[in-house]
Formats: sequence, C-alpha cells, structure tokens
Amino acid sequence: MDSCLFCRIAAGEIPVTKVHEDDDLLAFRDINPQAPMHVLVIPKVHIATVNDLTPAHEALVGAMVRCAAQVAKDHGFDASGYRTVFNCNAAAGQTVFHIHLHVLGGRTLRWPPG
Ligand code: 5GP
Ligand code: ZN
Repeated sequence: MDSCLFCRIAAGEIPVTKVHEDDDLLAFRDINPQAPMHVLVIPKVHIATVNDLTPAHEALVGAMVRCAAQVAKDHGFDASGYRTVFNCNAAAGQTVFHIHLHVLGGRTLRWPPG
C-alpha cells in the first residue's frame, strides 16, 4: 500500500533505526518511545489490524512474537520482564493501520494499562 506509513518504512523509503530485519519482518525503534526500550515489530506485508489476520498468517504472527522476545533478550530484559502489545482500532489507540507489535521494557510497567 503506497499510502501506508509502515509499508513505506518496510520498503526503506522512510529511515528508521532498525534492530532486526529478515525476509518477512522488520523491527525498529519507535519515534516516540514510551519506555527506555520501545521497538515496533512489523510484517513487511500489509495487514491493517489484528482483525484482518487469517490462518495463513499464523506462522508470520508467531515469528513476530518470537522476534519481540529476541529483541527483549538482546536488550537484557528477558529475565527482568518486558511487555508486548498489539493495539487494535480506535478505542485501543491504534494510529497506524499496519499491524505492529510494541515491545516495551526498561522501566516498571503498570497494570492495567491506561
Ligand atoms: P499505535 O498507536 O498505532 O499502536 O502505534 C503506532 C506507533 O508508531 C506509535 O508508538 C508511534 O510513535 C510510532 N510511529 C509513528 N510514526 C512513526 C515513524 O515515522 N517512525 C517510527 N519509528 N515510529 C513511528
Ligand atoms: Zn502497510
């Protein structure tokens, strides 16, 4: 999707600070970090929301979650703890309609979230 911000980031058209890239995924630092570690893991393929996932995406989503765990481990937060979040649609605060898994760590994260 030409108009999608994260498709453009995946295509290399908009610079980001990458922390991981492979054939299917890109992980990069959030431009407005909410914690000392705030990384977004995205698929290179366009999927607007979690509601749009199908059985064909199961391996891809599994890879996203495992990528998030590796990012947290690389930052040294695997044992102490971190948070992974998919926001879906307006009430959850989704602003970019290309799925992304937030990976947050490096501070105490309260529960429930606001
Ligand atoms: P959402 O609110 O949709 O769950 O999360 C979107 C995230 O994308 C936000 O945390 C926001 O800071 C981040 N973001 C928006 N535009 C850019 C950008 O151009 N570059 C990077 N690195 N992050 C972005
Ligand atoms: Zn997209």
